[in-house]
Amino acid sequence: MFWVRDIETLLPEKLKELQVSLLDKTVKQAIKSPFYHKKLGEQGLTGISSLEDVNSLPFTEKEDLRSAFPYGFLCTELKEAVRLHSSSGTTGNPTVIFHTRKDIDEWANLIARCMYMTGATESDVFQNMMGYGLFTGGLGFHYGAEKLGMLTIPIGPGNSKRQIWFMKEFNVSVVHILPSYALRLQSLLREMGLDRKRDLPHLRIAYVGAEPHSEAMRKKIEKSLDVKAYNSYGLSEMCGPGVAFECEEQNGLHLWEDSFYMEIIDPETGKVLPEGEEGELVLTTLNREAMPLIRYRTRDLTRIMPGACPCGRTHRRIERIKGRSDDMLIINGVNVFPIQVERVLMGIPGIGTNYVIEVKKDKFMDKLYLKVEVDNKAFKGTLRDMEILEERVTEELKAELSVTPKVKLVESASLPVTEGKAVRVYDLRNT
Ligand code: ADP
Ligand code: ZN
Repeated sequence: MFWVRDIETLLPEKLKELQVSLLDKTVKQAIKSPFYHKKLGEQGLTGISSLEDVNSLPFTEKEDLRSAFPYGFLCTELKEAVRLHSSSGTTGNPTVIFHTRKDIDEWANLIARCMYMTGATESDVFQNMMGYGLFTGGLGFHYGAEKLGMLTIPIGPGNSKRQIWFMKEFNVSVVHILPSYALRLQSLLREMGLDRKRDLPHLRIAYVGAEPHSEAMRKKIEKSLDVKAYNSYGLSEMCGPGVAFECEEQNGLHLWEDSFYMEIIDPETGKVLPEGEEGELVLTTLNREAMPLIRYRTRDLTRIMPGACPCGRTHRRIERIKGRSDDMLIINGVNVFPIQVERVLMGIPGIGTNYVIEVKKDKFMDKLYLKVEVDNKAFKGTLRDMEILEERVTEELKAELSVTPKVKLVESASLPVTEGKAVRVYDLRNT
């Protein structure tokens, strides 16, 4: 099933031609922003005429987005933008992405394309369990599902009983859900005395994404919920979900090459790697009006899968994301940088300099645990004062990260000190 057959099956040579012209258009559009005006202007770049020319374009990093906050990347007048999305984090500048009406429409079309590719149609009932608001998972899928014509239930995350009630009452057949939450659903059904086959007979598709998960985890989701689970990849800088998506073959994710230009680079040297080698995914938007991004370093590690997909789509596939080339943690879909934790801790009097972050699974969901040393010299309080301090640390971290950690204060100098580079993060999840 093709949402736009011509584009999805465009011959590789034609696809390349299309990319060259869209890349050139993108460079010309990008130059309208203060950031690229300066960056590309310095190098005298005004456009490109071949894919080889892309090599001469500079990379764009998350840090650039932060430093150009809030409007440094905007290429249109602000009044032409109709939406912004933003990453979490309150300490540093957040990254803000603007969209024009056309940008939103293109994005919705991409999501519709993804869902249609997996067999979803207007007869399906879709429950979107991802976060609405600044997160792109909620609104991104929402608009795509409506474009496809599905009855869409914008329930958002949380409140499992209500989730299941809606699924049952409205014959939900397609869901968008975090992989970790998908695994939990089966036991929740059991706790509610419900039976998957009897009470949710229509459920058949789950879109899972926003966080890394293994093939084994997908199989587990498929088995426990008796659904087909499709991997959905995206990032807010590119639009959100809809960048790359699995087809019914479930063997790699088609990255939509009419909308994004992809490269795989060596994260250390920045050199473009030959097709098939594993490295960091770098993406350039090809259709964006408000905020085109050139050679954006996603920090996600993957490789391009060689060969054609039996489904007939010509857009090349990437392998499921293997990990990150930076230290970003994804906690139930929320991005957390260890440096955010450190900044918060260092701002609280009575807290020492050593801490350990652990991420573990608790009933299938991710949980962030923190052991934090108190500073014996600065802290002379009672046990009650200690509890108050622990609460303060928890609250401040919660506000910063949008994730509630389990904080434990420990005596000063009680945590292990490593020689050389401190190891403070222990990811003990086995995804
Ligand atoms: P979202 O709002 O969808 O979470 P963000 O921009 O906050 O988007 O996060 C994007 C990051 O989430 C990606 O760079 C990647 O690290 C991770 N991610 C998204 N989808 C997947 C996926 N299917 N598999 C692995 N990681 C993913
Ligand atoms: Zn395919």
